Amino acid sequence: MSVVNQLYQLQEVDMEVESNEQALRRKTSQLGESQEVVRVRTELSSQHQRLDELKRQQLSAEWEIDDLTTKITTLEQKLYDGRIKNPKELANLQHEVDGLKARRDQMEDKALEIMDQTELAEAGVANTSSELKRLEGEWHHQQQGLTIDIEQLKAVLSDLEQKRQLILARIDPQIVSLYQELKRQKGTAVAKVDQGMCRGCRISLSTSELQWVRGGSLVRCGSCGRILFLA
Ligand SMILES: [Zn+2]
Repeated sequence: MSVVNQLYQLQEVDMEVESNEQALRRKTSQLGESQEVVRVRTELSSQHQRLDELKRQQLSAEWEIDDLTTKITTLEQKLYDGRIKNPKELANLQHEVDGLKARRDQMEDKALEIMDQTELAEAGVANTSSELKRLEGEWHHQQQGLTIDIEQLKAVLSDLEQKRQLILARIDPQIVSLYQELKRQKGTAVAKVDQGMCRGCRISLSTSELQWVRGGSLVRCGSCGRILFLA
C-alpha cells in the first residue's frame, strides 16, 4: 500500500475518532440531575407544605368550634336551669349566647372553606406525585441509555486508537509530522483528487501533478499544500 493510501486511511480513522469523541462529550454532558425533575420535586415539596398548613388551620378551627360549643352549652344551662331570675341578667346571658353562636357559625363556614381547599391541595399533591414518578422513571431510563452509549463509544474509541497506532507504525515519522502539521493548519491533510481537481481547494491540477499522483508518489497540491490522494 502506498504511503498516500496509508495517510488517507489515517485521516479516515482520525475523522472517526473526532466524531466519536464529540458524541462522547455530548452524552457525558447529559449525565446527571434533570432540571425538570428538580423543578417538579420542588413544586411537590411546596404543595406538601401548603397542605400541612391547611390541615393545621382546619384542626385549629375545629378546636375553636368545640371550645365555643362547650361555652354555649354551659351558658344555656345557666339560662334555662331557673336559678337566674333577674330579667336583665337573663337578657345579657342570652345576648352572650347569641354572640357565641354567631361566632361558631362563622367558624363552621371557615372550616368548610378550609376543607374544600384541603381537598384541592390533596388532589394537587397526588397529581404532582404521579408526574414526578413518571419524570423520574423517564430520567432513570434515559440515564441508563446514556451509560450504555458512553461505554460503547469508549470501546469504539479504544478500537480506533489501536487501528490508528497500527497505521502510524507503518508510516515514516517525518511524513506523519507533515500530516499532523497540515491537519492542524487546514483541518484535513489529505485531499482527494476528483476530475483532475483537488477536493481540498477545488483548483485544477497541472498535467504533471496528475501524472505524479497517478504514479503513486506523495504529491502536495500546488495551491493548498494538501497531500493529494487518488482513489
Ligand atoms: Zn488543493
